[in-house]
Amino acid sequence: MHQKVTKIGVLTSGGDSPGMNACVRAVVRTAIHHGLEAYGIIRGYAGMIEDDIQDMNSRSVANIIQRGGTILKTARCPEFLLPEGRKKAYDNLKKRGINGLVIVGGDGSFHGAQIFSNEFDIPCIGIPGTIDKDIAGTDFTIGFDTAVNTAVRAIDKIRDTADAHDRLFIIEVMGRDAGYIALHSGIATGAEHILIPERKTDMQALIRSLKEKEKRQKLVNLVVVAEGDDFGGGNEVAKTIKEQLPNADIRVAILGHIQRGGSPTCLDRLIASRMGYHAVECLVEGRHNVMVGIVNNKMHYTPLDNAVKAKQKISDEWMKIVKILAS
Ligand code: ADP
Repeated sequence: MHQKVTKIGVLTSGGDSPGMNACVRAVVRTAIHHGLEAYGIIRGYAGMIEDDIQDMNSRSVANIIQRGGTILKTARCPEFLLPEGRKKAYDNLKKRGINGLVIVGGDGSFHGAQIFSNEFDIPCIGIPGTIDKDIAGTDFTIGFDTAVNTAVRAIDKIRDTADAHDRLFIIEVMGRDAGYIALHSGIATGAEHILIPERKTDMQALIRSLKEKEKRQKLVNLVVVAEGDDFGGGNEVAKTIKEQLPNADIRVAILGHIQRGGSPTCLDRLIASRMGYHAVECLVEGRHNVMVGIVNNKMHYTPLDNAVKAKQKISDEWMKIVKILAS
């Protein structure tokens, strides 16, 4: 049985995502509402190991709900993979009496939290903060909506210039293991083809389809590629198409890190606030080692173990819709 939580540490870990600040604000203010102390741990697990930990109050999280990035900074911390690193981190928490943690991050961060919590008596609550939306047990992850809207705005602009010149554009969006940004932004911008890691790319079928479109003078085509597609990124896809469609006027646009930054959308601020609030409620109620998610608009708690292992599935229906609407 864990002791009653009185001091909560909050950290952002792994890849940053817009809306993390709104979440930190919610955690700190809900903790204060319950009469708990709140601490901000800087640069994720690195700050835990290096004792870079700050007292937080309501004012420390003022004027951040609209800001992208994370005021707590984030980092990848190889030292936390080692038992000695985690022991150091634990000693620093113990010294301050921090007896509950909220970790905003992706599945790697949850894996670390699970191991840490098994070794030491500190309850950990995970909040999914990742633009990739690749975590099971939640319909939303903080940052996805902002990232996908950034991609949509960029692709709309590319469509204007593609249309002016009758060009074929290959647009690479983020998503090393997950194709959600590509799928959603591709559908929302009317892309002709969407290539994602979850589906094997049939390049010959894609080229056949482009040739057929060339014949009927449909020259403006957008191909949205997730960076982690099995065929390769935007440049590889463009090179292969050019070899087989030498007349096509092809350009590549790699959207890159703009997808991580910027002011979070209303949806990301809402889910960040809701999840942050419920993470503290979880600690107060004595829950431990779960990820707070939202499924069918209700709070949903997944053991950190499962949030680590499972990925969301992309439904075949979406792929069918892409094909029908892109004709
Ligand atoms: P994300 O949380 O965005 O998936 P990472 O996979 O980089 O990002 O994980 C963030 C951090 O979580 C790592 O730098 C490391 O400190 C910690 N972590 C990840 N996996 C483990 C693990 N197996 N054991 C301990 N710590 C881990």
